[in-house]
Amino acid sequence: MFLIDPHIHMVSRTMADYEMLALSGVVAVSEPAFWAGFDRSPAGFVDYYEQLTTFEPKRAAQVGIDHYCWICLNPKEAEDLGKAREVLAEMPRFLERPTVLGVGEIGLNKNTPNEAKVFKQHVEMAIATFKEGSDGAKNGGHHLILIHTPHLEDKWKGTRMILDMLKEFGGAIDSGRVLIDHVEEHTVKMVLDAGYWAGMTIYPISKATPQRAADMVEIYGGQRLCVNAAADWGVSDPLNTHRTMLELKRRGHSVEKLLGIFHNNPAQFFGQSGKFAVKPLKINQ
Ligand SMILES: [Zn+2]
Repeated sequence: MFLIDPHIHMVSRTMADYEMLALSGVVAVSEPAFWAGFDRSPAGFVDYYEQLTTFEPKRAAQVGIDHYCWICLNPKEAEDLGKAREVLAEMPRFLERPTVLGVGEIGLNKNTPNEAKVFKQHVEMAIATFKEGSDGAKNGGHHLILIHTPHLEDKWKGTRMILDMLKEFGGAIDSGRVLIDHVEEHTVKMVLDAGYWAGMTIYPISKATPQRAADMVEIYGGQRLCVNAAADWGVSDPLNTHRTMLELKRRGHSVEKLLGIFHNNPAQFFGQSGKFAVKPLKINQ
């Protein structure tokens, strides 16, 4: 089986993890910008974007994996508006780089007014800095956007706030170019019903399990749905994406369906950027 890992933080993983992903069928990874475990200075963000766009693609290439990334100031550090202003000013030049798919993972953490303000500033930037065809795509009015939704008790309210804020942008936002991540049973429907892509994150603790994700696939059909393990420096496991695939296989879902969810869905969403080179695959019978 061929897979694309749509959300993984490889800067915090070892070369052995890259090899394990390659051995288990992963052909491409997408790495959103996130929190480092501590709050960085604006200069720290610039160094981080350099690492994401220069060093990580080289590490991934050693095992034949295509590495792509996303640029943003993560919601956990959005409370400091002065810092946010400085970091956002650095972002446009990185959005131009050949492996950057768009703006992400932006979103909310504790659903505060400052987080909401910085979220909207990122969306404005995704629209304002996008020149038609600049990412090699034939159309589109803004950069692709990848959105983090808050944890546990803040998730429903935060997801609702994010959908409302996106709505304020009206026709300037194309819902097919936005992926809203870490959905769970109580948020997946509102995301899909509003026309966005949804990502399910499979964690050893919190978020979803392989069984719960498989249930959601069975309920909602697997269209505009992606699965990831969001592996990072915390308690996480890159193979949880594969475990979800195995759970669906065990339940009797076809190879076509599995290829669709774990490879072709992310290929289709990311492929809206002309920078993403991995094409959807077909099985010849
Ligand atoms: Zn993440």
